[in-house]
Amino acid sequence: MTYDCTRQFINGRWVESRGASHPIINPADETVIGHVAYGTSEEVDQAVKAARVAFAEFSKWTVDQRAALLTDIAARCAERRDEIAAAITAEMGAPKKLSENAQAPLGAAHFSVTAAALKQFSFEKKAGDSLIIHEPIGVCGLITPWNWPLNQIACKVAPALAAGCTVVLKPSEIAPVDATILAEIIDEACRKAGAPDGVFNLVNGDGPGVGAAIAAHPGIDMVSFTGSTRAGVLVAKAAADNVKRVAQELGGKSPNIILESAPLEAAIKHGVRDCFTNTGQSCNAPSRMLVPESKYEEAVKIAAEVGEKIRIGDPQSESAHMGPLSSEIQYSKVQNLIQKGMSEGAGLVCGGPGRPEGFDKGYFVKPTIFRDVNNNMTIAREEIFGPVLAMIPYSDLDEAIDIANDTPYGLSAYVFGGSEEEAMSVAKRLRTGMVHLNGAGVDINMPFGGYKQSGNGREWGQAGIEDFVETKAVMA
Ligand code: NAD
Repeated sequence: MTYDCTRQFINGRWVESRGASHPIINPADETVIGHVAYGTSEEVDQAVKAARVAFAEFSKWTVDQRAALLTDIAARCAERRDEIAAAITAEMGAPKKLSENAQAPLGAAHFSVTAAALKQFSFEKKAGDSLIIHEPIGVCGLITPWNWPLNQIACKVAPALAAGCTVVLKPSEIAPVDATILAEIIDEACRKAGAPDGVFNLVNGDGPGVGAAIAAHPGIDMVSFTGSTRAGVLVAKAAADNVKRVAQELGGKSPNIILESAPLEAAIKHGVRDCFTNTGQSCNAPSRMLVPESKYEEAVKIAAEVGEKIRIGDPQSESAHMGPLSSEIQYSKVQNLIQKGMSEGAGLVCGGPGRPEGFDKGYFVKPTIFRDVNNNMTIAREEIFGPVLAMIPYSDLDEAIDIANDTPYGLSAYVFGGSEEEAMSVAKRLRTGMVHLNGAGVDINMPFGGYKQSGNGREWGQAGIEDFVETKAVMA
């Protein structure tokens, strides 16, 4: 199967890009599986103009019309689930089962959850004699990463359309295929619904080219960005000149506090597996495990057993296993950080540098657990974005909370205790946008986003729509 992402979707039509074509690499075997065009600033400009024209009509659509459009997109995503999953596996290396059961369905789920949230959304609220009105913010530039590619796109496109905005999407150049399939789906759904051309536009390309052109474009009212804190800061600076609103969903270095009272084996097993899901490439991965000193040796032993049992394999295979990292850049970054952990004095519990045995190509890495990590080491401070877990001992709860909060990031935190009440009391002391108690997973209806340098936006469900509206006060 080869994939062609050399056309852009602008103003309701697929057009050949004038930008240079680049290979899309399968990270499992380093073969070329297709090509993606890196679009031009003229193409961004055409897309913005189309979105501006479409906004005049689309922003007047009723809630029911917009909800019906989202519901139709969700159904079409569900119908093409296997095709989307196969594309995600090929382009970024998520194992087949993970793509089919999580990566692809999350895309469809955001469209249906947002349709339901839209029907509950209060666009007008009385305040005494006055009125508070929420209106769509306008033309939105959406810039997304490769790690949960469809999920990241859907949780921006769905609320933007729900609010009545029109969009220009730039997906990751590493994973453009699922975005191209989604553009086909949205095109069909928009045609069926009679939406104006230009409601949704796709311009493929890289960050310094298309991403930067979107961030700086004076015709864009808002940029919603998901990616690294480094690029998020650049986007905000480029957007500042015309006072665009910028929603940032950035990196993380999430703590997982194992309390004295926690069922140790269950807590450690869950924490290790959660950190290694998607080959550690999740912004909310619990990558710092905080363990009471009294339980530390036992915890390390349990973690080693879990880490050593993790199988690594071809993402195309059906079995449960860990796939490769998504790109050569990621591979080098993770290798460097593993080396850094060793040179700064952390002890290897399992894994380490180099490819796992039996792999001589592909961006496969060993699931790696470090012990005797302190919170000042590079591996405790920097987002690694690979299957690397740092186990940090703590003496008492106050110290655990200090360590958990001592990070520039503030996306997620995890607390495992003997009871929900105890874990909840710790959650309230953490400076993060999300906290998971006793192994709870994510909830697609809850606000997703971070404190501090993890960003300032909130996505998913009702909160996602709020990001894409303006507030108008009408005094009577
Ligand atoms: P990245 O920052 O390299 O790229 C993200 C997107 O930004 C891509 O589309 C890229 O082309 C674009 N980009 C890069 N430089 C740009 C620039 N100067 N101007 C405009 N656009 C630019 O990140 P990545 O490697 O694709 O993704 C991994 C990062 O994403 C991690 O840091 C991870 O934590 C973060 N992430 C955050 C969330 C969240 O919700 N907080 C979710 C997923 C991923």
